[in-house]
Amino acid sequence: MSEARPGKVYLVGAGPGDFGLITLKGLEAIQQAEVLVYDRLINENLLYRAPESTEKIYVGKQAANHALPQDQINELLYQKALSGKTVVRLKGGDPYVFGRGGEEGIYLAERGVPVEVVPGITSSIAGPAYAGIPVTHRDWASSFHVFTGNFKDEVRGLNFPNLAELEGTLIFLMGFGNLPYITQGLLGAGKPAATPVAVVSHATTNRQQTVTGTLSDIEQKVREAGLTPPAITIVGSVVSCREQLNFFEPNRRPGVLILRDARQSSPFAAMLREAGFRPVVSPVIKIEPLGLTPELKDAIANIGRYTWLVFTSPNGVSLFFRQFLAAGGDLRQLAGLKFAAIGKATAANLANIGFTADYVPNKQVSDSLAAGLAAQLTAADCVLLPRSAIANNALVPTLAAKCRVDDVKLYDTKVQTGRGAELKTLLTSGEVQYVPFTSASTVDGLYQALGGDLAPLDNVKCVAIGPVTAKRMRELGLAPALTAREHSLDGVLAVLKEDMQA
Ligand code: SAH
Repeated sequence: MSEARPGKVYLVGAGPGDFGLITLKGLEAIQQAEVLVYDRLINENLLYRAPESTEKIYVGKQAANHALPQDQINELLYQKALSGKTVVRLKGGDPYVFGRGGEEGIYLAERGVPVEVVPGITSSIAGPAYAGIPVTHRDWASSFHVFTGNFKDEVRGLNFPNLAELEGTLIFLMGFGNLPYITQGLLGAGKPAATPVAVVSHATTNRQQTVTGTLSDIEQKVREAGLTPPAITIVGSVVSCREQLNFFEPNRRPGVLILRDARQSSPFAAMLREAGFRPVVSPVIKIEPLGLTPELKDAIANIGRYTWLVFTSPNGVSLFFRQFLAAGGDLRQLAGLKFAAIGKATAANLANIGFTADYVPNKQVSDSLAAGLAAQLTAADCVLLPRSAIANNALVPTLAAKCRVDDVKLYDTKVQTGRGAELKTLLTSGEVQYVPFTSASTVDGLYQALGGDLAPLDNVKCVAIGPVTAKRMRELGLAPALTAREHSLDGVLAVLKEDMQA
């Protein structure tokens, strides 16, 4: 009996938190993953780079809930690889720096599973760097030493007399709760009380906060500042470089929460990043294509019956043509039809396929589309309107007053709940400053995810893409701080930029 060959396991470093601080190889591995096993402290945006079909398994610690024990993680990786899958084990920072990557790798190697390591940017170096602290400097430190401050998992504690002898920079991970133990230990071993110390929490994220002091006062200062883990402690003269090299904290980019469907978040995230914002992806809705429904099948089979094809979203265009071609349609059958698009983005999507929209209203709202299009229709016309199942407006009655309209459902929009706690943290921790709502469904999604408690939104500016979305926000008790003048993602970006510069 021959056994199938096991799949490969990639031990991939995700970097310290900032989305951009992953390697190209790491990102490629994520994009090819069939199974993605990840910890806490991983930038969410990275998870959405995996294909939709990727099985994503979270094995990190949650507040109430304990992490999957290490032997079970090892076994999980092994079993997934045995089934022939390409497995990506995504770890914070570098997989081999206090990441137990070594244990996982050996477990797999002993069982004949091929393993490839993609090193990552470790927080032990990037954290200090983002706080303006070089870990070495010719004048102050010719070595740096990274320690774990978590003694539960380690066989040995720290040998403070040895540490105090070292001339180089001392860096402690996982030591947040043990900060007093570390400072007392070093002082007790004779390290000068005036030795500079920095503690960097949530390094490289929008929540990064740094407190500096000395071995004698850092603990009190950290307590007063209310820092929370994860944090890195840096001990040594290099800490003083921060005065000149602190590039990140003063130039913090405003965080923008992206609530739309995960697959559609990347282009918006790229636009925001380009414009100087920091996108944070946390979808509250999911677009579910309905496939070739009997109505759609009938419309496609009888496409010659229609004189107008009307699209109310870029999604509608993509999904309609996907089904049209899959059902054996040929673009030449559409040669005699006229096309209408609700706005620029929808028209641009049509243009990509090779169709110029015959009608695009000046104002990108369904009322304008309805009125403008109705003025061009006669009783001899026949309109096909392939769109979202939750579309709910006066478009159909206005058009139907003139001619036959077939309103065909292409996709449903489902609310994704269950991420309430995470969203609350994003909204209240300083990670996010703006929340753009790009559809009424994102308003419902966030409202439901937060269990109807909108208080976390007091800390941020809510932005509406247009009047329909703004209306839904007000109905739920949420006042838009800004509303886009042009009702598109470009329009949202424009008001965000104005507000950032104001
Ligand atoms: N493999 C990881 C470290 C894992 S141990 C790496 O190379 O970065 C987890 C510890 O790393 C945390 O307790 C904390 O001390 C540190 N850490 C990880 N990410 C951090 C971040 N963004 N900010 C501050 N400390 C971080």
